[in-house]
Amino acid sequence: MDQNKNLSEIISSCVFKKYNSLPKKGKPAKKNESSTEWTILAGIVKQDQDEFECVSLATGTKCLGGGSLSKFGDLVNDSHAEILAKRSFILYLIDQINDLISPTYNNDSIFYLNEKSDPDEHNPCETNIFKFLNRRLKLKNVYFHFYSSQCPCGDASTSSLLSSLIDSNKTSKDQIASDPQIKRKNSTSEYNNIEKFSINGDHTKKNKRFKENDYTNSKDSEIKILRGRENLLKLNSLRTKPGRFDADSTLSMSCSDKIALWNVTGIQSSIMSTLLDPIYLHSIIISDYFIKDEVDRSLNQRIFDSNGIFHPYKLNRLLILLTNLEFIHGLEAVKNNYPNLIHIPCEASIDWYLNKKLTIDKNIQEVIVKGKKQGSANKKNFEKLKSTSRSRLCKLEMFKAFKIVISNLFRYLAEKKNINLEITDVEKTLNEKTYKNLKLDSAEYQKVKHYIKNSEFKGWIQKPDNLENFYT
Ligand SMILES: [Zn+2]
Repeated sequence: MDQNKNLSEIISSCVFKKYNSLPKKGKPAKKNESSTEWTILAGIVKQDQDEFECVSLATGTKCLGGGSLSKFGDLVNDSHAEILAKRSFILYLIDQINDLISPTYNNDSIFYLNEKSDPDEHNPCETNIFKFLNRRLKLKNVYFHFYSSQCPCGDASTSSLLSSLIDSNKTSKDQIASDPQIKRKNSTSEYNNIEKFSINGDHTKKNKRFKENDYTNSKDSEIKILRGRENLLKLNSLRTKPGRFDADSTLSMSCSDKIALWNVTGIQSSIMSTLLDPIYLHSIIISDYFIKDEVDRSLNQRIFDSNGIFHPYKLNRLLILLTNLEFIHGLEAVKNNYPNLIHIPCEASIDWYLNKKLTIDKNIQEVIVKGKKQGSANKKNFEKLKSTSRSRLCKLEMFKAFKIVISNLFRYLAEKKNINLEITDVEKTLNEKTYKNLKLDSAEYQKVKHYIKNSEFKGWIQKPDNLENFYT
């Protein structure tokens, strides 16, 4: 127990230390005389024996509505801290691969090359590039821990949110206080304005343009996906992220649903699965009020049928830990520091990852507002955002980064193994692929994900295909 307490404090301290070292840009601030901002922080920490290092982090509470999604892949749809920290982590992985194959490599990448001998490797052609590259990279003996300053939105936090609502209505305070499962009280959990939500009813905007069930991959009319904080009494439900009252509803699944799915797919992303084995999180550490059994039920137990999960994939289980250390810009801390002000969620998100190529000075965070870089011009309808306005975490920019690392790795291996396929052929093959096509090349990943989305997670929202049919 003490060992776990120690672990949770080491990990949260690691993320706080990195967060505190970053410039103020994009962090919550006092807005005016009457209001101040707060946010959620998430981060991923690498453990190498007894050494811990924060490798990615992000803040954020916002998510674009369904009507703002772009067919160019130029916006970041989901800016919840947990999701941005995971996307930043993928850029960290790409950087680690580029480091491994660089001429100046000094053996400190998290990866090593699997020197397997493939019967086709001396004669690869355009069609089997991915077969040739298939999981060439192996992870050294390192673990990854996930920190979040609040309990993930959606199913894992509905019970604690409900308790807070009852608590704020002072109906059964004693009952809640005596509940040994509740780890910390006096928190309003997810958002400031929960009192606006009804417990049983939907509060969706009347002229909502998107209905989640229009996009679900389930034909079964019995399966209904819940929106945001609709019907908090219903457990084990897939939920979308809550949107703003004055905007379209979102088509993004809640963080609870996404993290539960990572327990099967890993956090390396679909495209990176062509190069490496799945990477699973070892633990999740949460600062704020949560009900441990509920988080366990939601993240670890909703997916239990492993029949369709095959090697190298598995059914991962997260160690769930509480940390007593508080995030300085979290809702609770801000409320304590400014009890008389209005507390509003920060509009901006920041994202950061450990990048060996950038100098210390340049190794700073990016700030995202409304899915694009802070300060950039508003997106015009039907036009792609300029590259200077795009976040490095949008699909389009990540697609570019994926293609570059795949080409680099191929070039490196081809030289090493004396293979005569021209790199230009590889690049041509990659350039002919849409983002969606490249994702589909990770056949095993897709198969496992498809299995879950057609079994325990039936009803998962399938965004329209034309949102991923773009080229770089
Ligand atoms: Zn969330």
